[in-house]
Amino acid sequence: MTDTDKKLLPESLLKGYGKFREFKYARHAQRYMRLAVESQKPETMVIACCDSRAAPETIFDASAGELFVVRNVANLVPPYAPDANRHSTSAAMEFAVHGLGVKHIVVMGHGRCGGIAAVVKDMSPLSRGDFIGKWMADVKDVVDTVDVPHNCSDHEHHTLVERASIVHSLANIRTFPWIARLEDIGEIQVIGAWFDVALGELHVYNEVTKKWELVNEA
Ligand SMILES: [Zn+2]
Repeated sequence: MTDTDKKLLPESLLKGYGKFREFKYARHAQRYMRLAVESQKPETMVIACCDSRAAPETIFDASAGELFVVRNVANLVPPYAPDANRHSTSAAMEFAVHGLGVKHIVVMGHGRCGGIAAVVKDMSPLSRGDFIGKWMADVKDVVDTVDVPHNCSDHEHHTLVERASIVHSLANIRTFPWIARLEDIGEIQVIGAWFDVALGELHVYNEVTKKWELVNEA
C-alpha cells in the first residue's frame, strides 16, 4: 500500500460516519444547530471506562447534548489534589459542576473490566508503561479491602473489586469540597453504577443499604 492509497480514516469509521450523516444527523439537524448556537446544558456527567463495550451514550440511549462524558482506564476518580500535576478527570468534573451545573455525577464501571482484572491478578502487566501502573495503583489498595468469599470464582472476585472500586471513586468525588457542599444541600447527586456487558443490565449502588440493585427498565 502506498501513502496515496491510505485513507485518512479507517474504513470502519468512514462507514459509521456515513451512517451518522445519513440517519442521525439528517433526522436531528435542527437539534445540532440549536445546540451549536445555544451551547450544551447536560444535566448528567458520566465517568466511564475507556472499554469499547461500555459506552455511556449507547447504554443510556443519549442524544447529542444530553450527557457530559469523561472516560478513563477503569473509570477511576482520583482524590481532590490541587497540585502541579495534570488531572484530566478532575478538570472535567470541575467544568461539569462549575461550568455546566450538572445535577448528577454517575461513576459507571462494568463487568469484565480488563484494567481491574489486571490489578487483581498482578500489577506487572500494567507496570511496564509510563502511566498505567501509576494510574491503577489506587485500585491495588481497593483489592486489599474486598472480602472474598470462600469458593469465589475469579469472575465473581473481579466483579466485587469492580464494584468496590466504584464505591471508592464515589468517596474520592466527595473529597472535592465544592461537590461535597452541593451534595449536602441537595444540589447534586453522586451515583455509582455497574454495567453487565454480557447481559446488558445496569446495577446501581444503594448508599443506604450499601448493596447493588438491578435497575428496572422504565
Ligand atoms: Zn474497564
